[in-house]
Amino acid sequence: MQQTAPKAIQHIAIVGGGSAGWMTAATLAKVLPKEFCKVTLIESPQIKTVSVGEASIPQIQLFNRILEIDENEFLQRTKATFKLGIEFHNFAREGDCYFHPFGSYGTNMDALPFHHFWLKQSQTGNTLDIENYSLAALAARQNKFQRPTNSGNSPLSSINYAFHFDAKLYADFLQDYAVKRGVQHIEANVTNVSLKADNGFIDSLFLNDGQKITADLYIDCSGFKGLLIEQVLKTGFEDWSHYLPCDSAVALACKNTLGLTPYTQAIAHQSGWRWRIPLQHRVGNGLVYASEFMQHQQASKLLQEEIEGQALADINSLKWTTGMRNKSWNKNCIAIGLSAGFLEPMESTGLHLIQSAIAKLMTLFPTKEFAQCDIDSYNAQTRKEFVNIRDFLILHYKATEREDSEFWRYCKNMQVPDSLHEKLTMYQETGRIFRQDNELFNETSWLAVMHGQGIKANRYHPLVDRLEPSEISRRLQHIEDVIKRSVATMPDHSHFINQCFSNNFCDIQSG
Ligand SMILES: Cc1cc2nc3c(=O)[nH]c(=O)nc-3n(C[C@H](O)[C@H](O)[C@H](O)COP(=O)(O)OP(=O)(O)OC[C@H]3O[C@@H](n4cnc5c(N)ncnc54)[C@H](O)[C@@H]3O)c2cc1C
Repeated sequence: MQQTAPKAIQHIAIVGGGSAGWMTAATLAKVLPKEFCKVTLIESPQIKTVSVGEASIPQIQLFNRILEIDENEFLQRTKATFKLGIEFHNFAREGDCYFHPFGSYGTNMDALPFHHFWLKQSQTGNTLDIENYSLAALAARQNKFQRPTNSGNSPLSSINYAFHFDAKLYADFLQDYAVKRGVQHIEANVTNVSLKADNGFIDSLFLNDGQKITADLYIDCSGFKGLLIEQVLKTGFEDWSHYLPCDSAVALACKNTLGLTPYTQAIAHQSGWRWRIPLQHRVGNGLVYASEFMQHQQASKLLQEEIEGQALADINSLKWTTGMRNKSWNKNCIAIGLSAGFLEPMESTGLHLIQSAIAKLMTLFPTKEFAQCDIDSYNAQTRKEFVNIRDFLILHYKATEREDSEFWRYCKNMQVPDSLHEKLTMYQETGRIFRQDNELFNETSWLAVMHGQGIKANRYHPLVDRLEPSEISRRLQHIEDVIKRSVATMPDHSHFINQCFSNNFCDIQSG
């Protein structure tokens, strides 16, 4: 039997010109030749973008590589700094501090994860905190940074990093990239949408300048409201506020008075937490809070009191419902970015979820026939991803000894999903941590936050006992020394950024 030729998608319309819209447009422009598929991006000149997604995770390097973005140009255009992880304050107890680093702790030994040896050694009381076995944590604490070099077994070969950047400049940068490669950019409001009578698919978008846009595939990057996916297609939303009660933020940029730290700071307060993101030209600050426990005015006042330097703009207020759309892909519409859902900004996962949605779209790229199995697969993968990230975020609130406010008492005593409960029990009883379904956060991340927030493992891997305690001690000491010596050779973070603009000193893998 002869197969029908697939009906190729010839026109994709993206609604929204925030980070989600422009990241999607830039990738489509790179991957799809203009003659093969036209891409149109429509953004409202009146409706502002959220412009707060300024901290990333290392996966963004892959995104830049796919677009073949020159990293030094990217740093310059977006006023970026480097990021080696996140420093958490006051989460388990007021006054405590721990670091969630990128990269790994120590090195696996005799086919066992490093942390089991460290757990055994900790029981003797004869070891340092786990941070001392992370190059990223140690370098961050000393404000040092460099890209990885080709230096054999040295931990300098495997430095893992991300960026902090100006969200507005990032969107502008990607807009230039996409438009240069043929994306049609329309500044207008989508005011009406028509559906096909036979199957309820989106037929056309109507703009306030009189234009009608008809495409085969529609990407909804319109932000929290989900203009197409929710307001038109009524897809529904799964609300996770009971697990992650922070639903509001106030953001305010200020002058930098504390220097270019190569890490984000997350500082818990009585009803949420505050971020500090250092950029080359300013610091991004935001206070995240649960509106059930804190008033907007109180949050704004607290943020203004706590920022380190002169404010550079007015306060930007944001509000969301934590959770995800029941389906990110519904009929011929895919929601990418905040329209697909939002957890909360604690671990900088928003931009990554956009990147991952784009990757899934490419893998499951449809024809005009829109195979339901592709759509189901996309939605199932998206759900898994959100659920795994959700569990990791809940950990930051649940694993606390704080009882000093109604908010922290709620978090400490709340029910958590079974999936998280199982993970915590496994670690507490056996010291084991497994990365499920290729989830975003790996063993290092789970260990960093569990240990940082006071969760103790009662046992370690039994095969650790194959090594004599003196040998374990010797190896741990060696790893600690190597990391310390490597960090000592690293340049200062600001110095490294300056070098990136002046010559090729810091090219990746420059050795
Ligand atoms: C408080 C907070 C902090 C965050 N921090 C981080 C972080 O540190 N790291 C991270 O990775 N992520 C973070 N995020 C998430 C990140 O900001 C978003 O994922 C990212 O900015 C994408 O937003 P968006 O493009 O989906 O939506 P938006 O920025 O809201 O853009 C929506 C676009 O849709 C357009 N639009 C809306 N309606 C219409 C219409 N009718 N017609 C035409 N156009 C329309 C608007 O004009 C706009 O261009 C944070 C989010 C919040 C709320």
